[in-house]
Parts: sequence; C-alpha cells; structure tokens
Amino acid sequence: MNDLSVFDAIIRLIYLGAATCFVLGLHLMNTPATAKRGNRLSMLGMGAGVAAAGAYIVHAAEATLTAWTVLILGAAIGSGLGLTSARRVQMTAMPQLVSLFNAVGGGAAALIGVHDLLAHSGGVPVSIALPAMLDVVIGGVTFSGSLVASGKLQGLISGRPIVFPGARVVNAVLALVLLGVGAWVATGTAGTTGLVIEAVAALGFGVAMVLPIGGADMPVVISLLNACTGTAVAMAGFVIGNTVLIIAGALVGASGGILTKLMADAMNRSLTNIVIGGFGTGDGPGVLSATDGAPVRELAADDAAILLGYADKVIIVPGYGLAAAQAQHACRELAELLEERGAEVAYAIHPVAGRMPGHMNVLLAEANVPYGQMKEMEEINPEFPRTDVALVIGANDVTNPAARRSGNPVSGMPILDVDKARNIIVIKRSMGHGYAGIDNELYTDARTGMFFADAKAGLATLTAAVKAVTA
Ligand code: NDP
Repeated sequence: MNDLSVFDAIIRLIYLGAATCFVLGLHLMNTPATAKRGNRLSMLGMGAGVAAAGAYIVHAAEATLTAWTVLILGAAIGSGLGLTSARRVQMTAMPQLVSLFNAVGGGAAALIGVHDLLAHSGGVPVSIALPAMLDVVIGGVTFSGSLVASGKLQGLISGRPIVFPGARVVNAVLALVLLGVGAWVATGTAGTTGLVIEAVAALGFGVAMVLPIGGADMPVVISLLNACTGTAVAMAGFVIGNTVLIIAGALVGASGGILTKLMADAMNRSLTNIVIGGFGTGDGPGVLSATDGAPVRELAADDAAILLGYADKVIIVPGYGLAAAQAQHACRELAELLEERGAEVAYAIHPVAGRMPGHMNVLLAEANVPYGQMKEMEEINPEFPRTDVALVIGANDVTNPAARRSGNPVSGMPILDVDKARNIIVIKRSMGHGYAGIDNELYTDARTGMFFADAKAGLATLTAAVKAVTA
C-alpha cells in the first residue's frame, strides 16, 4: 500500500466515523432527554468530516493560491456569521433563521452543480451531469423558496397566501420546463443555455411554490425545504465524489422528508398540494369572523386564581405567545404551585404550536418542565372533557374550533380540544389574531374567561393571586 492509499484509507475511516456519529446523533434526538447529547455527537461527526476533507485537499495539493484564499476566507466569514446569528437569535425568530440556513445550504449545493456543469468543456459525462442537474434544480428551488419563506416569517412579505391569476398555470409551465430542460441538461450536452434556463426555472418554481402558502400551513413547507436542502447536498456529494456529504445530505433529506409527512398529516394537508400550489389558501372567502359582535367574558385575576387554585385537573396549553413573552419559567412556577395544592397538571403540545417544529417542547424543557408532563395532541385530547381548567397561554390557531369547519384558513387542521374543558382561561394581550389571521371562536365560548395580559406578567400576577386566594 503506498502513502496516498494509506492516507485515503484514513480519510475514509474518518468519514465512516462521522457518518456513524450522524446516525447515532439522530437516534439520540428521538427524545428531549438525550437530544442535547445527540446534537453534540452530530457536531463532532461534522467537525471530523470537515477536518478530514480539509486534510484531503492539503494532502492532494489540489488547490491553487486563489482557491485557498477563497476557501479560508469563505469558511471564516461563513462560520463567523453562522455562529453569531445562531447565538444572538431570539427563540421566536428561529424559524426565519432556519429558513435562511436552508437557503444558504440549497444555494451552495446548486452552485456546486453549476460549477461542474460549466467546468467540463465539450460535453459533461452523464454520471456527473445527472446529479449536477438535480443539484441545480433542487438547490435552486430550495434557495428561492426558503428566502420567500423566511421573508414571510419575518413579516417582510405578507404572511397571507399570495395568489395571482394564472398561478397554477405558471407553476405547471415551470414544472414542465424543469422536467424537459432537466432531461436535456442531464445528457451533458445542453451547455450554458440549457443550464441558465434550468436555473431560472428552478428559482422561479421556488418562489411560485411558497408565495401561495399562508394561513397555518407554513410549518410544512419549511420542513419540506429542509428536506430539499439535504437532498441537494447529497447530490453535491455525488458531483464532487465526497462520501460524507452524500451521507449527511441523505440523512437530512430522509429525516426532513419524514418530518414533512408527519407535519402534513398533523395539519391534515396533502403533500401533492404543497408542490402544485394553492396550498393553504382555504376553500372559501379567507377571513371568517364568527366572533364578530359575540360577547367576550373578561376575567379578573382573583376569579381566575379561584378557578385555578381549587381545580383538581389543569391542562396548560402553550402557544406562540408564551414563546414571544419568554414566559416558560413563570409558567412552570404556576404549575408547581398548583401541583403543591394537589392538582394534576399536564401540558398539551400541538405539533405546530409556536413557530417551529418542537418549539414548545424546547421552551418547556429549558424551564425544566418534566418531559412526562408534556403530552402530544392525540394523547391529551381525550383528557379535556375531564379537565377542570384549560389554561391557554398565548395559543390561538391551535385551539380554534373553526378548524373543524370548511371554508377558512385553518380548516382541516387537527386542534387541541380545549373547548371541551369545563372551564377555559385564556391569557393573551388582546383579541388579536394568531398566525392564520382569523378570529378564534374559543374566546367567545360561554365557558371561556379572557385574562388580558402579557403572558409572563400575567402568569406572575396569577401565581401571586392563587397564593393570596388560597392562603
Ligand atoms: P398563534 O400564532 O396562532 O397565536 C399566538 C397568540 O399569542 C396571538 O394571538 C397573540 O395574541 C398572542 N401573543 C403574542 N405575544 C404575546 C405575549 N407577549 N403575551 C401573551 N400573548 C401573546 O400561535 P399558536 O401557537 O396557537 O399557533 C401557531 C401558528 O403558527 C399556527 O398557525 C402554525 O401553523 C403557525 N406556524 C407554526 C410553525 C411551526 O413550525 N410551529 C411555523 C410557522 C407558522 P395577542 O396579540 O392578543 O397577545
């Protein structure tokens, strides 16, 4: 065995170790209790993979001075920006950041495809042209789609479905161009013209796919774009012949795909509709005002405290408002007080509560809420009719009974059956809408008392009031 092949074997062994770390890391992310360890193990694998790839380049001396400069500067700027934005980001702005990271991943993968298609003069071998074409298509769609999704979540673009006349036709034409020109590019003979048409169509399709998505459907598309990033990265791995990139990309693609399916099922949506368009726009006239003019019962702190202080069974329903107010610690303190008074307390976790998958679990875990108290929607829903008080904290869409009817932006989304509890207390600042932008009929239900306050301040007030009324 010569020197290079020994070196090659070492690099491959490191890649194998990195891939093992990814798989084990994913497995550990199955439960919140081991998720942090899983994350660290995956980071270790990624670090080893990057170091091995760097060592390979140095050893093979493949890079010119310009390439080295670009590589080192790019890595420094990219890591610096990634690290600072991830450290500084508010938990509530995490989905926008994830979406931006998806865009960067997809864009980078697409550029690898573009480079390899342009680098071979006089025809590209099909073994390279095919994955490179897929890279450009999937990466391009992910890049533009993720930028639009991020803009919608950040409020730079309207969060409502944006539909223009003939949108479905545009989508269909773009899809046909992607397929037809894609087949041509994959033969390796399309040259720059074919590549440019394919790239523009991919970018256009990403925009056209995400613009009509609104209402409560955004989580599914973010998850789908995440799966696309992984797939694009795997394709980039094929193009440059890097095993660890193929494995890491395939894992992200597969796990993102499974998450997308789970979320689509949880939202009662079909994946086909996401890609074809018109998804999430609701069947009818958009905003539904079932609560217009209906009376709202406002609750004083003492009244809410009496209900809570003497309840045997309380279900806490956290939503985006809890995250926005950073009220997770105040929430746990109230829950502990109720438990000390002998109440049974559980947390109802809706799969799309908040602004990212797992948002509520992460927040509550940060406040040391026991994992056993966090109940999934299917598990907790049968419990509501036996519950004395459902305490809704900054949750809106995930509790809206309008979802059980057709003709509105949340139609068909499974909800937490909060309206079946004996008493309902809702903490939020106003009668303001949630993400889907519609009224919530729960707030005008005869059993609902509204406690208007910022979630954190309101919970502190309620905790003090429970202590006072039960002293
Ligand atoms: P919603 O967005 O439906 O409602 C949140 C409510 O919180 C608002 O009505 C607001 O009312 C209240 N609120 C905001 N700030 C505060 C505060 N400081 N204190 C108290 N209340 C506050 O949240 P849900 O969690 O019920 O539903 C999530 C929605 O987001 C769904 O439509 C889902 O599809 C969507 N989504 C979810 C993603 C995910 O992955 N989980 C990603 C993208 C979108 P007020 O202003 O009156 O206080």
